[in-house]
Amino acid sequence: MSNAIYMDANATCPMHEAAIHALSEYIAVPLNPSSVHANGRLGKMMLETARTRLRKAVNASSKYEVVFTSSGTEANNLVVQGLKQFHAICSAIEHQSVLAVVGQGVIAVDKNGTVDLDELEQILKDNEMPILVSVMAANNEIGTIQPLAEVVKIARKFGAIVHSDAVQIIGKSHIDISELDLDLMTVSAHKFGGPLGAAALIFKKNLPLTPIMFGGGQEKRFRPGTQNLNAIHAFGAVCEIIEDIINDFSSTVGLRKTLEDRIKSLAPSTIIFAEEVDRLPNTSSFTMPGVKSETQLIHFDTNGFMLSAGSACSSGRVDVPYTHLALGVGHKVASESIRVSLHPNNQIADIEEFIKVWQWLYLNNNKKAV
Ligand code: PLP
Repeated sequence: MSNAIYMDANATCPMHEAAIHALSEYIAVPLNPSSVHANGRLGKMMLETARTRLRKAVNASSKYEVVFTSSGTEANNLVVQGLKQFHAICSAIEHQSVLAVVGQGVIAVDKNGTVDLDELEQILKDNEMPILVSVMAANNEIGTIQPLAEVVKIARKFGAIVHSDAVQIIGKSHIDISELDLDLMTVSAHKFGGPLGAAALIFKKNLPLTPIMFGGGQEKRFRPGTQNLNAIHAFGAVCEIIEDIINDFSSTVGLRKTLEDRIKSLAPSTIIFAEEVDRLPNTSSFTMPGVKSETQLIHFDTNGFMLSAGSACSSGRVDVPYTHLALGVGHKVASESIRVSLHPNNQIADIEEFIKVWQWLYLNNNKKAV
């Protein structure tokens, strides 16, 4: 294992010890929650305990169904493809698992990544079909927290329903599905200390949602396939301690402030995205003027830091992040940005070391600036 400093929690979080314990607890036991024998009953009990814990973590009342999926991506696909009677629209900075499925019907965001509520209202006014509005709770790349209560209020005026991709916010800040009166919400375990391979879609029971995969009758027929039980059990374990996890993440705000203050004092022309708005506590996206993201990432990698330029890219390439382009900053600025997404394990010494590595590259590329 590498000794490099991990600052890429939004790509995937280090697993919480409660999740590691739960994941391995029954790993050697053959458990299929659909079996009728004793092991099946144990599996069913584990599954339903995890479901109850997740319900509690996001305050999903009894009017909501909780369906486990293999990933946030799958849950997002299920929303857009499974609500066939609705025309879906979404913000311009949604994760690709929403954006690529929605296709047409994108709501602009402002320079901080906040969804344009006037445009949302206009789109809803101009449309006669039943509309599904999908707006993420918090953005993965720049951290912007969206005004979901207002999105729901506007949607209700026009009879539209609202889905929120809450994959990045869960465990980092509070999210209450019942209070927000969201119709559907996606969460994923691996972004807040749970394991890979467990996620969920939570939605109002009265919605005409249809499955997008076919097979067995698991998950109330909304999602066939034997559940990834050990991962779901570990997902439940982190839901159970979600208040502690949120509390731990809140400590990253101070580290982020030190990081951003230092970068601004070294390079006053740097741009820190979404600096003026409510953001995830751990997320910072900023530019190194004159230096391409890819060069920065290689430099950080060789100096023992793991971070990203924008979202984790499945191909391993560094693409110009579409989120930054949607903010209207232009190609050059967008292609000079990197993302630091901190974790409660990060220490002030990590930030100090990061600054040294950042400063070296910045000064070497901006000799005239010094
Ligand atoms: N939505 C957002 C905002 C994300 O950041 C991600 C992952 O990066 C996803 C959805 C997809 O989640 P998963 O990795 O569980 O498929």
